[in-house]
Amino acid sequence: MAMAGSAGSSGKVVIRNIGLMLSGDIDRPILDADTVVVDDGVIVAVGRAKDCDTDGPARVIDAKGTALAPGLIDSHVHPVFGDWTPRQNQLGWIESCLHGGVTTMVSAGEVHLPGRPKDVLGVKALAITAQRAFDGMRAAGVGGGVKVLAGAPVLEKGMVESDFAELAAAGVKLLGEIGLGSVKAGDEAARMVGWARRHGIQSTIHTGGPSIPGSGLIDEQVVLEADADVIGHINGGHTALSYKAVCTLCEKSSRAMEIVHNGNERIAILTARHAIELKCPHRVILGTDAPAGSGVQPLGILRLVALISGMADIPAEICFGFATGNTARMRGLAQGLVEVGRPADFVFLDRAQHSAGRDLLDSVRLGDIPGVGMVMIDGIVRCQRSRNTPPAVEVPAIVA
Ligand SMILES: [Zn+2]
Repeated sequence: MAMAGSAGSSGKVVIRNIGLMLSGDIDRPILDADTVVVDDGVIVAVGRAKDCDTDGPARVIDAKGTALAPGLIDSHVHPVFGDWTPRQNQLGWIESCLHGGVTTMVSAGEVHLPGRPKDVLGVKALAITAQRAFDGMRAAGVGGGVKVLAGAPVLEKGMVESDFAELAAAGVKLLGEIGLGSVKAGDEAARMVGWARRHGIQSTIHTGGPSIPGSGLIDEQVVLEADADVIGHINGGHTALSYKAVCTLCEKSSRAMEIVHNGNERIAILTARHAIELKCPHRVILGTDAPAGSGVQPLGILRLVALISGMADIPAEICFGFATGNTARMRGLAQGLVEVGRPADFVFLDRAQHSAGRDLLDSVRLGDIPGVGMVMIDGIVRCQRSRNTPPAVEVPAIVA
């Protein structure tokens, strides 16, 4: 039997008595189901208890009427090595985010590495090393077992197509934020984005003013010309383009619109509303852009969900979809949806104690952060009552 916090396979896990099943899919955000069955880390059944094969489990979780959602995906982080960030000289930040319901993080570049190499060979070597190291770290359960998808080289002048082919062959699947390296012009970035795309490497571009001394402005013209897969922190990181420029990006591009916690909150709210008005809510994905000058926010994704739901007046179940299923689809990830065949990465949520909201979704719509009662990755319980969120009214129990 798999023990909480252990590595290895989950075996058969039955989760019963789920009060609210959030699918992560904004077209069908709430499922008519109270039971999930997992086998070796993969969802094998979602439905009513009487319709699911619940025999012979290695583990049984009683959700106690709480909500189950896909584990949250942070679309924009800057890891370096291990569960440490030099940006704020902090240890354990990834595991702390697990307690905020995050089960997957996507690197936007390991740019905070002190003395980061800027020559092409060094850029490639670092990306491959980071990809390997974070993969190995997850397998070892370091960082709470959070899936950190890293190894995201930033574009530097002098890179040629064969560099992208080589990176792809070595297992690199992401580019770091375009604009953080020496490639800052739209035409040059577009050429490299094209090479990356041809080799199956996904791209993200920095949007807005410089983040810290030494980085630069990327305006809407450069973002449109570069045509990266993800319009990284469309609300700035921190300094946003004008709302008019952001609207131009929403309207003229069809790429993912990434809203981050460490950005301009006013533009975050306006962007989410604009996406709804433009009828392109599927493009909205969420990230923290942590660690950053603003630090690390273990509850950053939950805070964004509550901010956008409360201030942009978007139903909470849709905002949870921005943080899960939308990111999964925009980034081609298997996790992020409660669906048969998907990885069993879940967060169990309930209304925070003494919230004015009558239930979980109402409390989030009123701007409150929910309480996390349990987090599961690949069917293995990674934490129970969160040490970081306000306490949930009810939490799931491991009954067998
Ligand atoms: Zn940035």
